[in-house]
Amino acid sequence: MTIHHSETLITPALQLDHISVEYPRYGESPHVAIRDLSLTIAPGEILALVGETGAGKTLLARTIMGAIPGGGDRTTGEMAYNGRPFSDLGASDSPIKPARDISMIVSNPRRELNPVLTVGQQITNVIRHHLRLSAKEAQHRALEMLRAVSIPDPERRMDAYPHELSGGMAQRVVIAIALACDPGLVISDDATSALDVTVQLQVLELLQKMVSGKDVAALVITRDIAIAAHFCDRVAILYEGELVEVAPREAFFDRPHHPYSILLMAAFAHSPELRAAWTAEPLSSDPPRPACSFAHRCVRRQSRCFSEAPMLRTTADNRLTRCHFPVEG
Ligand code: SF4
Repeated sequence: MTIHHSETLITPALQLDHISVEYPRYGESPHVAIRDLSLTIAPGEILALVGETGAGKTLLARTIMGAIPGGGDRTTGEMAYNGRPFSDLGASDSPIKPARDISMIVSNPRRELNPVLTVGQQITNVIRHHLRLSAKEAQHRALEMLRAVSIPDPERRMDAYPHELSGGMAQRVVIAIALACDPGLVISDDATSALDVTVQLQVLELLQKMVSGKDVAALVITRDIAIAAHFCDRVAILYEGELVEVAPREAFFDRPHHPYSILLMAAFAHSPELRAAWTAEPLSSDPPRPACSFAHRCVRRQSRCFSEAPMLRTTADNRLTRCHFPVEG
């Protein structure tokens, strides 16, 4: 599977085609938590997936990692890593090993780290398991990784236990582990949300540097659109399990097209006026189906929005927007 990128053919590091995740409900139609989601991420590209809590961001991350929370039992669609379908990745003759080639960083680094093993043991264990290096080589590589993530006094930290690390330092160790085996794709699921703002910036800058320097693709999942503004190449906005806008970062922040994107921008710009102008009067009852999932919050809604669900379509300036009446021009 290939995409056109800057007039060259590039195989995406990650390709998602029509992914849907449904949860069965007794006596009712299933709850569709992710609906028909298609995305690609090129090697070296950082894509921010932005949405509020419950939009389906973490579910998508876990679906990619093959671990759906809450017993969601129906996932449809195709996923490919470096052009190979995920269904091939588990095969014993596959050169791609999902646990080695796709890494995930989550928001609670302490929960990721084993409290009874030292930092050095945890990194070397992963390296030895996936890269089959000798103990000495793995030790050397672990130290290299601690240096790369700017851990002060890395030789001493190799012998430290997780409870001896600050939150920022623990997150750096988790990033070191995530990148130690040269993955092609890193998924960061709200990885910095629990950190102080300054530490958050340092960790994001570090992740950005390591990802672009190694041609690793990154899916950065966040509720904070400011992270997308500063650290990502492209922005994808998720609302109630559907992508509603996908655009290059500069184009998106220059002029978002979807009404929900504009509401997010109001928060980013700390503009109560913009927020008030784009906040709709609530509807007296739930919108009928089919309808745009954003209709009950949308100031631009018209009768068509209640009778026809909008499709994700390419706009004149080559971005994707799911809206009958996008803000264009
Ligand atoms: S389709 Fe209609 S309701 Fe939905 S976002 Fe666009 S204008 Fe608003």
